[in-house]
Amino acid sequence: MSTGDTLLEVRDLELAYDGTVALDGARLLVREGEFVSVVGANGAGKTSLIRAIAGMLTPRGGRVSWRGTEITGRKPWQVCALGIAQVAEGRQLFAALSVAENLRLGATARRTGPAARAAAMRRVFALFPRLAERLTQRAGTLSGGEQQMLAIGRALMTNPELLILDEATEGLALLVAREIWRIIRGIRDGGMATIIVDKNHAAVTAVTSRNIILVKGRVVFEGSGDE
Ligand code: ATP
Repeated sequence: MSTGDTLLEVRDLELAYDGTVALDGARLLVREGEFVSVVGANGAGKTSLIRAIAGMLTPRGGRVSWRGTEITGRKPWQVCALGIAQVAEGRQLFAALSVAENLRLGATARRTGPAARAAAMRRVFALFPRLAERLTQRAGTLSGGEQQMLAIGRALMTNPELLILDEATEGLALLVAREIWRIIRGIRDGGMATIIVDKNHAAVTAVTSRNIILVKGRVVFEGSGDE
């Protein structure tokens, strides 16, 4: 896998909820084409870190940069427009809308022309043939695994340069989780820069190039999966 210029750089991020410190100097670097995991126990600050990157939480210190420009404090839609797409924990689909409508809404999150949208849709259907078979089905009636596929598909509709996956297989049966990991490997092989947040190191380090471990909002380890 080839890696290139720095896409995302997070430095010294500090974030707290009322009195609870969630991030205490967290840092993270993602280069083009890199597949990076953030692992840590419950409450380590993983979700806080990616929510701060995605503009959903405002840190009280530190900075987030995208291709060398500081973007700390930008709104979620501005971050998305830069090419950063997040698949949130819990999927956050529009349950009453169809698969096709959810995908179309994904595409509107980043202004791209009709040709790019059509190409994104073809890519999503190639990764998830099951979604193509269920275009008119309401998202809320899909199985858990199909909902996760739709959530990832919707994020990919923005043609992101960086995809962030939070607990992509949480709550899924083992076989379904394996299918999602197979798809994530496919995304990796396509060269899209990705951050995977997970509690399960064994699963993530099998697919990632670099891993960081968070403990109490700080990075205590950074290295390859073998290390
Ligand atoms: P999990 O794997 O359980 O999702 P996590 O590593 O994603 O955990 P965070 O959810 O980022 O960790 O939480 C970091 C710290 O911030 C924890 O101590 C948590 O209790 C606290 N925290 C998270 N969200 C809130 C909130 N909305 N209000 C108050 N404290 C919060």
